[in-house]
Amino acid sequence: MSDDDFIDLRSDTVTRPSEEMRDAAATAEVGDDVYRDDPTVNELERRAAEAVGTEAALYVPSGTMANQIAIHAHTEPGQELLLERESHIYRWELAGAAKLSGVQTRTIDAGERCVPTPKAVREGLVDEDLHRPGTGLLAVENTHNYRGGVAVPVDRIAAAAEVARDADVPVHLDGARVFNAAVALGVDASEIVDPADSVTFCLSKGLGAPVGSILAGDEAFVEDARRVRKLFGGGMRQAGMIAAPALRALDNVDRLAEDHANAERLAAGLDALDGVDAPAPDTNIVVVDTEAAGVEAASLYAACKDAGVGCVEFDDYATRFTTHLDVDESDVDEAVDRVAAVVDDLRD
Ligand SMILES: *Cc1c(COP(=O)(O)O)cnc(C)c1O
Repeated sequence: MSDDDFIDLRSDTVTRPSEEMRDAAATAEVGDDVYRDDPTVNELERRAAEAVGTEAALYVPSGTMANQIAIHAHTEPGQELLLERESHIYRWELAGAAKLSGVQTRTIDAGERCVPTPKAVREGLVDEDLHRPGTGLLAVENTHNYRGGVAVPVDRIAAAAEVARDADVPVHLDGARVFNAAVALGVDASEIVDPADSVTFCLSKGLGAPVGSILAGDEAFVEDARRVRKLFGGGMRQAGMIAAPALRALDNVDRLAEDHANAERLAAGLDALDGVDAPAPDTNIVVVDTEAAGVEAASLYAACKDAGVGCVEFDDYATRFTTHLDVDESDVDEAVDRVAAVVDDLRD
């Protein structure tokens, strides 16, 4: 199978920079960003803050670093971090909160709805006293990755955040795909971000930048975050080289709707297969359950790979397919045909 023929639906992180992005990188005005001398990074941070409606923003190498900086900046070692059981921070960040910030995590089971109810947050908050460390941060996620790119309604986030903030506990939004949520919900990203004290979003996912994420919040928070970025080894020098294509990526917000339409088409095609359950997605992530067909995710993943479709094993019978800038409707149709043949072959 040639590279060209492989339909890579593993993630929206797999996109390659466009010619326009490569040109922007080649001609970027640069300086030493640790000294705040890189005009392209400064422009990216200004536009990123504007895009999510915060005072300030910080360019960081990855979404994981953005989340970990936020945890470090908001908490003291020994405090608790309250978050949802299936959140990216808890599941997929190598226990970074414990290792890098010395916080204890307390998880909430928020079920299919992904964002904890006010009651669940209230029950999860811990007051500092002789025996208990106190909660230092509540983290929520939108869109919710593991739950299949669910776009969590604005008022749900706001209700959870309000309980925390009433208890003087700050709120971090892991909005790696917050623009997917905004497009799906038909609101401005700033509305989703508003109840939180800080937000992470990825430039290198659906927006198509080659490298980088943003951590945004008010000026005092971003000033702290800048020091923590240095501590974590994320201070970059002539980063305008990668910030220039990331600036172009900010123009890709509205076209996320195409990814959502393609994901819906993909889910409909897969759901029509016998024994395959693929609910219509909110955004660009399709989670496919093949238990009724007796096909384990590990076998589906391996056979899809051989058949020229990239996907990610999520659970025993759950597999994730993600649409993005580099796949169109005809790729989606071809992917459905290939997966159909694979499932037919593996079905028991
Ligand atoms: C991808 C993702 C991250 C991490 O981003 P990286 O740039 O891959 O480190 C964090 N949170 C969520 C919800 C994500 O989907």
